[in-house]
Amino acid sequence: MVEINLKNIQKKYKGNDTYSVTDFNIDIQDREFIVFVGPSGCGKSTTLRMIAGLEDITEGQLIIDGQVMNDVEPKDRNIAMVFQNYALYPHMTVFDNMAYGLKLRKYTKDQIKARVDHAAEILGLTPYLERKPAALSGGQRQRVALGRAIVREAKVFLMDEPLSNLDAKLRVQMRTEIAKLHHELETTSIYVTHDQTEAMTLASRIVVMNDGNIMQIGTPTEVYNHP
Ligand code: ADP
Ligand code: ADP
Repeated sequence: MVEINLKNIQKKYKGNDTYSVTDFNIDIQDREFIVFVGPSGCGKSTTLRMIAGLEDITEGQLIIDGQVMNDVEPKDRNIAMVFQNYALYPHMTVFDNMAYGLKLRKYTKDQIKARVDHAAEILGLTPYLERKPAALSGGQRQRVALGRAIVREAKVFLMDEPLSNLDAKLRVQMRTEIAKLHHELETTSIYVTHDQTEAMTLASRIVVMNDGNIMQIGTPTEVYNHP
């Protein structure tokens, strides 16, 4: 069970005159798939990064399962995150890329192998475990990035435009994969995108943002299919 509450979250970057995120409030239920949409610069990534602990929260509270998380280190949050530019380590094999975070956290060799093999199987990467990223297609690379996140077996899954570097056909395919991962891993997911189709097909609820504010929160039907 994972519930995430954002209470009056605000963000002002050092050196900026204005707030990048203001009065951000939402209660996210266990296993929801929340999608943030809105124009470039409206604060989507900033909000996601605050949830992951990659940016400080200026004001307000991030609460996960009843616990205030504002000052908890990223590595101590039960959160997996996937970025747009998937930033794989070029000199490491697919296996080692996926294993890296687990090694850092001192998992045993057997635990690491079991988790990486399982993730590879889910993502169709088993035949590619000994390859380097340069020898993979764009879709396969993005799968490795997803794999690196899911081996953590975190119950919160954050994705920041994970498909925007892929071509249209692959985007459709990977969208289905992401929906499947969300269900199979029983995660509470938050996903940032510019793409209305992605938002409509993936979201349980969509958060429409503009200029650091929430304009609307609703189901895909409520947000996009006005009578
Ligand atoms: P996106 O619109 O996809 O979120 P951007 O191109 O706006 O991405 O930002 C890319 C990176 O640059 C992010 O890591 C973001 O935090 C950083 N960034 C964006 N705006 C600024 C800024 N004004 N000053 C410093 N860093 C910024
Ligand atoms: P989005 O993800 O919706 O494109 P961002 O969260 O990246 O928006 O950016 C929101 C606002 O915060 C923008 O005005 C951007 O320039 C600013 N910003 C983002 N990252 C930084 C940063 N590291 N330093 C200063 N300003 C930033």
